[in-house]
Amino acid sequence: MIAYLNGAFLPKEDVTISPDDRGFLFADGAYEVIRCYDGKLFKAEAHINRLGKGLGELRIDFPDVYKLNTVAEKLIEKNKVQTDQAIVYFQATRGVAPRTHRFPIKPVPPTVYGSASVFAPHQDELDNGIKIILVSDTRWARCDIKSISLLPNILAHQQARDNGAPEAIFIRDGAVTEGTHSNLFGIFDGHIFTAPESNYLLPGITRQVVLDLALVLGIPVKKFPILETQIIKADELFIAGTTVEITPVVQVDDWKVGNGQPGPITMKLQKAFYEYIKSTR
Ligand code: PLP
Repeated sequence: MIAYLNGAFLPKEDVTISPDDRGFLFADGAYEVIRCYDGKLFKAEAHINRLGKGLGELRIDFPDVYKLNTVAEKLIEKNKVQTDQAIVYFQATRGVAPRTHRFPIKPVPPTVYGSASVFAPHQDELDNGIKIILVSDTRWARCDIKSISLLPNILAHQQARDNGAPEAIFIRDGAVTEGTHSNLFGIFDGHIFTAPESNYLLPGITRQVVLDLALVLGIPVKKFPILETQIIKADELFIAGTTVEITPVVQVDDWKVGNGQPGPITMKLQKAFYEYIKSTR
């Protein structure tokens, strides 16, 4: 596999990162994951803009972030994943400096890493739906930044896996924020509900596509938090994200959602999502 590191393309096994890198020492950085369908990046600009914004919030100086679009295209080409479903990963950290909490006294360049690899979608989950579990949201108050500091997400996700579920949904102050790697949507009486943008959730690129598609399909949307007490009363639930696309949710902890099958509005949106992807290729 050919990877990207600080301006160069090289075999992944030749990539070396200093133990003084602040990403390694402090998880001091941000990342992005971009989906690629048949060689074409999906919503790359939105992902890269979000990375640029996040790095700005973290005060990591990387003015060339907007050149990563070209880097992503080259990674796909060099790894010959044009005909596959693939994923491009980017991570930028505050760079290499002696370990101290404060920013490096003498400015250092960020460490920028990228890779492209084949991605196999979870077809069974997309077709038949998944179970989710509800967990307490123990994360920090800047979940709108796609930080590489993911310990609460990792612990929650593992808890889900230990309970036979591919996703855990965070609950903060009695309401759903989002999943460990997805945004959650609920259908109540023909209306789509999802948490409004805030510092407690990532403004998902797929979430925005869902909102746009809902508008086109004439499905009313309410950006309103789904309460923990209401979630099991949803007619339908689904998660949305770069890797999970639009995945129906058919079980929450021990409760069935609706009749325990993927719901019609969810599947209508999923179909529209694939048609939209095709139209952008
Ligand atoms: N929320 C979190 C915490 C995520 O990590 C992700 C994606 O990884 C999402 C939501 C979905 O965002 P996107 O649709 O941009 O992939």
